[in-house]
Amino acid sequence: MDLGIAGKRALVCASSKGLGRGCAEALAAAGVDLVINARSAEPLEEAARSIAEVHGVNVIPVAADITTDEGRARVLEAAGAVDILVTNAGGPPPGMWTDWDEADFLAALKANMLTPIALMKALVPGMMDRGWGRVVNITSQSVKAPIGVLGLSNSARAGLTGYVAGTSRQVAGKGVTINNLLPGIHATDRAISLDGGVSRAQNISIEEAKANRCATIPAGRYGTAQEFGATCAFMCSVHAGFMVGQNILLDGGATNSTL
Ligand code: NAP
Repeated sequence: MDLGIAGKRALVCASSKGLGRGCAEALAAAGVDLVINARSAEPLEEAARSIAEVHGVNVIPVAADITTDEGRARVLEAAGAVDILVTNAGGPPPGMWTDWDEADFLAALKANMLTPIALMKALVPGMMDRGWGRVVNITSQSVKAPIGVLGLSNSARAGLTGYVAGTSRQVAGKGVTINNLLPGIHATDRAISLDGGVSRAQNISIEEAKANRCATIPAGRYGTAQEFGATCAFMCSVHAGFMVGQNILLDGGATNSTL
């Protein structure tokens, strides 16, 4: 399917690897020029070289912490007038509800709620002026069904989801769509690190921890960054212009609900 977005320009945050990288690759495959971002310069520059070579698009890497005001300012300066924004950042650490104090919540809110909101506030007005834009926020299945050990994520992402529900309906009339993409368990470094946490907590091997988590997914496996990226690229395509304020769950059926 021709996604109809060749020649457009996208900012994909937190994208040297994992789900963000999957989104960057899929947009590049659709002919979109990219600004990509991560904190560590070397893997980011390698990702930029590889994506440009494979897909023949322009890729600008900006090494910065997207959750800081200074880092975000540098990314936004490089991004300029983008047509597509994919927000992403590392997820908050796991723990128990008794572990977290105000500082932990403020850090989670900054990274996973206030940072995507600041990025939208900076870039959506230009998209509205130009009459076309796409925003996809990478959130989590924890928005639909809470994950006990990820209470910081449950909280911060629920806040972002409420913001998107209201804001997306205020900008849709100008050709700009804002939607959220909710990953269940995907085979990335984040998943491996969570497998490690389960392995230590339950005193089992990482392989057992992974097998146990796979058994909770009707599809019987973790998702891939490629599948995730392809869905993101569709949500950024010309075909998704009537999708507004939605929360698209990619979890292999793990969330047991009818709607
Ligand atoms: P990942 O494999 O660990 O990749 C994270 C990417 O983001 C890396 O490129 C990393 O590069 C970059 N990054 C992290 N923090 C950043 C920051 N502050 N500023 C700029 N770049 C940053 O993680 P992932 O699995 O793709 O997860 C992406 C998001 O989806 C996370 O918020 C995660 O909680 C959420 N999620 C993931 C899953 C899953 O199963 N994978 C499930 C539900 C939700 P640097 O380290 O160099 O910065």
